[in-house]
Amino acid sequence: MKNTTNLGLSTRCIHAGDSLDGRGGIFTPLYSHSTFGFTDTKSLLDVVEGRVEGSLYTRYGLNPTIQSVERKLAAIENGEVAWVFSSGMAAESATFLAHCKTGDHIICIGDVYGGTYELLDANLPNLGILTTFLLGNEIDKLSASIKSNTRMIFFETPTNPNMEVLDIAKIANAAKKHGVLTVVDNTFATSVNQQPLALGADMVIHSTTKYLGGHSDLTGGVVIGPSKLLAPIWDWRKNLGQIMAPEVAYLLARSLRTLVIRVNAHNEAAQYLAERLVKHPRISKVNYPGLTNFNGHNLAEQQMSGFGGMISFVINGNAEEAAAVVDRLKLFSIAPSLGGVESLITQPITTTHYNLTREERTKRGIVDGMLRISVGLEDIDDLWIDLKQALK
Ligand SMILES: *Cc1c(COP(=O)(O)O)cnc(C)c1O
Repeated sequence: MKNTTNLGLSTRCIHAGDSLDGRGGIFTPLYSHSTFGFTDTKSLLDVVEGRVEGSLYTRYGLNPTIQSVERKLAAIENGEVAWVFSSGMAAESATFLAHCKTGDHIICIGDVYGGTYELLDANLPNLGILTTFLLGNEIDKLSASIKSNTRMIFFETPTNPNMEVLDIAKIANAAKKHGVLTVVDNTFATSVNQQPLALGADMVIHSTTKYLGGHSDLTGGVVIGPSKLLAPIWDWRKNLGQIMAPEVAYLLARSLRTLVIRVNAHNEAAQYLAERLVKHPRISKVNYPGLTNFNGHNLAEQQMSGFGGMISFVINGNAEEAAAVVDRLKLFSIAPSLGGVESLITQPITTTHYNLTREERTKRGIVDGMLRISVGLEDIDDLWIDLKQALK
């Protein structure tokens, strides 16, 4: 295996975790095998008892294709180890379950993915794990919200759909003072634009379904961090049976090799569109961290190296008029999800935030006229022409 320590991010995306496959193949092949054989009992025990890093059984994650993409992901996020999962939600749930038990407490800051909210708000309370939800502008209440049973602070940044930027270093610092773990969902920003571990977070989670996969053709998740914190998560993944399929791990490794150029292109295209949307007479507000007059811009400049491919904006008009804009688009597909090469649009009130009450939405600034786009990698002029005709 090539040593990629201290090498650039693109180099790590391409080479980390891969080795010649023994027949000269220049990256790790797909081992679809569910199980792996041994020539004698001693070699089996060496793997089972952890003396030798080897392959054993795919559900455990002891499969060369899975281990290879995990090494690549750890290198990309500058973490010690990475565990991959069948989905982003699987990665999150295993992380919560491994680090919180009955009677423990979690603090969730700002808007989070709908599934995450449901898990924290509806599922984990059944196990006696309760979550306090703070708005993104309530960070001053954080220290007071930390109780003796608080185990974890969880948040995304930028958030969905307001693109609110939360201060990773500040939150991690406050958490550390109380011996509480900071876990950041880095799905929106990606490892290219933001490195939460370097800013003090303990663990980072991605839905690899989004930018890391990048082609809307795989579902997966990953948690990255120090081996001490990830060891208990390994057990939960194994026994809940949440492993990423080797076929998906192979596809993900393929996608990661182009991560940097893809994300840079998403950044550039989103900046271009955001700057034009801001000037459009039918639009009252554009949320994009790359806009100099956006609320979180200065913080984003400090903690991010690019501003991402997600934009939300508010049109002057009601829910029906916003839906009509969506329906007139020809290139943007109406679809949840994000981070693929094709541009997508959603109206948060009909998809990601459908289940919230009007009151809850108002509190979170999610209005009827709001639209969210995931800017793809089509020719930027084609995207702008499509948006302009839809906004007429
Ligand atoms: C999609 C998403 C998730 C959930 O990931 P799945 O792969 O769909 O399970 C979690 N967090 C964020 C920010 C997401 O966008």
